[in-house]
Amino acid sequence: MEIEIIVADITQCETDAIVNAANESLLGGGGVDGAIHRAAGPELLRECQRIGGCPTGQARITGAYRLPARHVIHTVGPVWRGGQGNEAELLASCYRESLRLADEHGCRSIAFPAISCGVYGYPLDQACRIALDTVRQIGGLLRQVERVQFVCFNEDIAALYRQLLGRKAA
Ligand code: ADP
Repeated sequence: MEIEIIVADITQCETDAIVNAANESLLGGGGVDGAIHRAAGPELLRECQRIGGCPTGQARITGAYRLPARHVIHTVGPVWRGGQGNEAELLASCYRESLRLADEHGCRSIAFPAISCGVYGYPLDQACRIALDTVRQIGGLLRQVERVQFVCFNEDIAALYRQLLGRKAA
């Protein structure tokens, strides 16, 4: 599986699936969630309303409407509470469940934002390690997904990902 680190706005990504860092209501919010809903249009909210929510660590798939992607995979990252609340396992589960859903729906490419790294306050370094480790662990089990993009909103996150990738690959 190919892993790419890019600096971009995830709403512009032309991958088969983009992942939304949603909240349990799936009714939109700030950050990347707000950006995705704004760009996708009101039909996305209507489909999310029909789903009726998603527990932390799980994922749900919808259409992408006005976005260039084909699907949006909504996953709910953990709020960082100091590391004692099973946050690491829940964050890994977000990546795992999103990849499984993408694979089941025949997606060859998927783009992830840095789940939980905004208002949910997950320490960036730990979150990026979990993201990379989980994608690598599950990558070999997937039949359809060939390309995973980590979409970074700024250069700092991208630099961290590149450093972790290089270190692991060496
Ligand atoms: P969470 O509630 O899971 O912490 P946020 O949306 O607050 O989610 O932040 C998650 C990450 O997404 C942050 O690193 C933030 O900088 C990034 N982000 C925000 N908007 C976008 C966007 N349009 N494209 C890609 N990443 C984004």
